Amino acid sequence: LLRSLLNKKVPLHLGRLCYSSSSVPTTKLFIDGKFVESNSSEWLDIHNPATNEVVGRVPIATEEEMLAAVDSCSRAYGSWSETSILSRQQIFLRYQQLIKDNIKELAKLITLEQGKTLADAEGDVFRGLQVVEHACSITSLMLGETLPSIARDMDTYTYRLPIGVCAGIAPFNFPAMIPLWMFPIGMACGNTYLMKPSERVPGCTMLLAKLLHDAGAPDGTLNIIHGQHAAVNFICDHPAIKAISFVGSNTAGEHIYERGSKNGKRVQSNMGAKNHGVVMPDANKENTINQLVGAAFGAAGQRCMALSTAIFVGESRKWLPELVERSKSLRVSAGDQPGADVGPLISPEAKARVESLIQSGVDEGAKLLLDGRNANVKGYENGNFVGPTILSSVTPSMKCYTEEIFGPVLVVLEADSLDEAISLINSNPYGNGTAIFTTNGATARKYTHEVDVGQIGVNVPIPVPLPMFSFTGSRGSFRGDTNFYGKQGIQFYTQIKTVTSQWKAEDTTLTSPAVTMPT
Ligand code: NAD
Repeated sequence: LLRSLLNKKVPLHLGRLCYSSSSVPTTKLFIDGKFVESNSSEWLDIHNPATNEVVGRVPIATEEEMLAAVDSCSRAYGSWSETSILSRQQIFLRYQQLIKDNIKELAKLITLEQGKTLADAEGDVFRGLQVVEHACSITSLMLGETLPSIARDMDTYTYRLPIGVCAGIAPFNFPAMIPLWMFPIGMACGNTYLMKPSERVPGCTMLLAKLLHDAGAPDGTLNIIHGQHAAVNFICDHPAIKAISFVGSNTAGEHIYERGSKNGKRVQSNMGAKNHGVVMPDANKENTINQLVGAAFGAAGQRCMALSTAIFVGESRKWLPELVERSKSLRVSAGDQPGADVGPLISPEAKARVESLIQSGVDEGAKLLLDGRNANVKGYENGNFVGPTILSSVTPSMKCYTEEIFGPVLVVLEADSLDEAISLINSNPYGNGTAIFTTNGATARKYTHEVDVGQIGVNVPIPVPLPMFSFTGSRGSFRGDTNFYGKQGIQFYTQIKTVTSQWKAEDTTLTSPAVTMPT
């Protein structure tokens, strides 16, 4: 089967891994170090969200193709896990340079398929690149522990070892960063990796795979399949896969956590969010308004760490008119247009959903201070655009508050005190990120200690930790017990072997069996 797949020669061009004989490029599978055309009879269209033109097609990989991909990972595991850690490190050192060299090309693919602005797409690649750079420290990150002389002539030491074939399932909103949270760390640890990118934005992952191959990753160490539910269930069920990293919605994440765990796999599942920004009256007004606007509407609000909810405490509520004016100044346009601040949403369905959540707010009594519906973007009339939208006087029972909107919509609540704001946030089921804007250290300290959210910014609106830390979303935003990247990421992708050894300098041979528990 594998031979027949690999015998198909597939030309590469335009930086996309596509088939030149078709007018619409097809996305390849990456199996055993080759880009191969799928035999599938089921294909999905990939759209440019700014125009809704079809820019590519992606296969729903067949069962045979998925089996071939896992088999390739399994075969490669033996030699990859035994490859010297210095050789693995060299591959990732070359890889980080290739990503840097190709950052513009990667960003273009992101903007084409996902819609975000080119500058933001470069940020997407850059944040992933930082994880690859961190993976280059694998020689330190994988160190074990030793304790000499735990008894006479006896020492204990640990090895940190890979676990086998690992798999990653990625969402649409960060086509570079999130896959790069997954396979570089998993592979640097000595695991082989099966990636399933989002079927809506596979192009960037394919180029990342090509660059890794160019950097010297041996055939089979990374395989890529495409698809939706069947591919996800395949990953959850295949016995050779030992660990699953998932990022995406709660619906998928809960399912994958349950099904993968039931099958004995490690699962880390990063899910949805409702991130609150608390605005204290003593905050630096100019800075806070700019930060709120950027964090609510950047990437059209399609970031899991977007500040989608603001709580104005006390007198700070008087800043709302300025917030509205500043939000109006953002330019809504296609991501590749100069000066674009807010790009389109991923699909017409996402646009319709966001618009209906805005309407639900209005129907339930919120004030629509800024309405981004019917955004008219000249030249892009078919795009999935929604402009910056602000709903104020929102209450916790409204649907626009209880649901993750994942669009350029800021919902605004008011509180009379910091305690009231903290209690509101702690009552919300999500725990991904939050920020407080204040110039008072004691207020900031109280907030960081009392708020039950995994990632907190103090005058920092999107506090996504750098890769020497871990991405520590909590409560309803996370299932699992070891987070992505940082020390926890290394722990997720490794297991510990503990060796206790005795080498006697002088002959103290036992004269009878020691039947009691050794102490
Ligand atoms: P999604 O859950 O729809 O898709 C994610 C992946 O799961 C895709 O590969 C998709 O093919 C698969 N999938 C989708 N529905 C499925 C189902 N019912 N069963 C099995 N598999 C399924 O998510 P998305 O729309 O691509 O991404 C947006 C979501 O991701 C938002 O909720 C956002 O908050 C979340 N997100 C979270 C983080 C984080 O780190 N916490 C980061 C980015 C995005």
